[in-house]
Amino acid sequence: MEHDPVIELRNVTFAYDGAPAIERADLAIRPREFVAIVGPNGGGKSTLLKLMLGLLQPTCGSVRLLGGPPSAARRRVGYMPQHSQLDPRFPVTVMDVVLMGRLQGGLQFGPYGPADRRTAREALRDVGLEALRSRPIHALSGGQRQRTLIARALACEPEILMLDEPTANLDMQVEEQLYALLKELNRRLTVLLVSHDVGFVSQFVSRVICVNRTIQAHLTSDVTGEVIRGLYGHDVRMVHHGHPHGDEHRAGRHAHGHHHHHPGTE
Ligand code: ADP
Ligand code: MG
Repeated sequence: MEHDPVIELRNVTFAYDGAPAIERADLAIRPREFVAIVGPNGGGKSTLLKLMLGLLQPTCGSVRLLGGPPSAARRRVGYMPQHSQLDPRFPVTVMDVVLMGRLQGGLQFGPYGPADRRTAREALRDVGLEALRSRPIHALSGGQRQRTLIARALACEPEILMLDEPTANLDMQVEEQLYALLKELNRRLTVLLVSHDVGFVSQFVSRVICVNRTIQAHLTSDVTGEVIRGLYGHDVRMVHHGHPHGDEHRAGRHAHGHHHHHPGTE
């Protein structure tokens, strides 16, 4: 059904070895939502995505993806894992990278067909890089590399896009452009975006899911100082400290959020 959730977690608990990384999570994502997943380092954000994709199996509870078991639907999801990077030493072009997104789903490695090339070009057009398709990846800017990775995730013609901290190491302007691109893609795709940056990202999304072992979903309009304090404790700036490459703008942004939401907690 059109309005059935595309992702559904029921009472999901997951532990790697010891204490649960995710505990009693209930969540439903509707078609064409644009959701930000936020929370402190180690809070379980990446684990949550892997549970949704069936890359991890819940210790208890159930996960459904696009109406069935996650393993059956994983190919219909474009996934950009955390720390995805293009190694500029590889002598490949933008198009080569995006074509790799066609390899999942049982396709054999080997000559790509015309349909693969057409879909890869469409993905490049979606991210505004079609003109650079023959360029070697070492000649791209940081933002263009991130767009190439997003195009690779789009090349499987997904219904859902899941991006795990895609803006790490980008400056604020490029980060903002990337969110604008995701908002555009959200016109036809469900988008889940893991971000450290609750104050900034909440301008772009309709819901914010806070993950810190347990999960709580909030409408963006309800993301108040109380919510943020509940999530990060009193030191919202630890979010910034998790970014070794954070710049002045980023620091200023968090500092602003901190003062705004927690007057007198310095
Ligand atoms: P986040 O993405 O929010 O930073 P993670 O989902 O990566 O959080 O991690 C959640 C918790 O699970 C952390 O305590 C982390 O140390 C632990 N963890 C993550 N991956 C593994 C793993 N492969 N083996 C054991 N523990 C893990
Ligand atoms: Mg993570």
